[in-house]
Amino acid sequence: MHVETFPVGMLQTNCYVVHCTETKEAIIIDPGLHLDIETQPIFNYIDKEMLKIKFIVNTHGHYDHIDGDSLMQQKYAVPLCIHERDAYLLERLGNRDASSDVLLKDGDRVLFGNVCLNVMHTPGHTMGSVCLISDKNDVMFSGDTLFAESIGRTDFAESSPEDMNVTLQKLARLPDTLLVYPGHEETTSMSKEKNTNPFLANL
Ligand SMILES: [Zn+2]
Ligand SMILES: [Zn+2]
Repeated sequence: MHVETFPVGMLQTNCYVVHCTETKEAIIIDPGLHLDIETQPIFNYIDKEMLKIKFIVNTHGHYDHIDGDSLMQQKYAVPLCIHERDAYLLERLGNRDASSDVLLKDGDRVLFGNVCLNVMHTPGHTMGSVCLISDKNDVMFSGDTLFAESIGRTDFAESSPEDMNVTLQKLARLPDTLLVYPGHEETTSMSKEKNTNPFLANL
């Protein structure tokens, strides 16, 4: 598996293009870009690497993660995957064909090439937030649930601090081996977060 990071949009959301190095099948995670021009480095990369895009995946339904879904689907006619409890947030994108959307649930798997990402429902930041964890336990995409030394806000109308507490207990049990790709800012690791993230202390 290879991960390429593209910070996009006003909030510098991490859009990830993830591909299977053996088959070149790939997914796009959180294309939260707004401007056409922001698609160019991503499209150029996908062309250069000759990737075959299979899915677009949203870690949750906030605008800074979904804003470029339509631009991506215009270029790559592939299904859009989002947790069933955040799907309603896609309505903000306006006129789009939702018929091919894939509604994710806890335990579902996102498969492309020889890569398997397990869907872990991690409500709190939003009701339908998910983390995607490779079946080899080496990589996790954490959206706005977990950041380096922090966690996502839980003060939105669609948030739940109580659910986040349960989610944090789940996160604290994840393997140390995971490299963590969050929705914003730098990459971290589960072992580092268990040691330095104040929200994961004493769990
Ligand atoms: Zn968010
Ligand atoms: Zn965000």
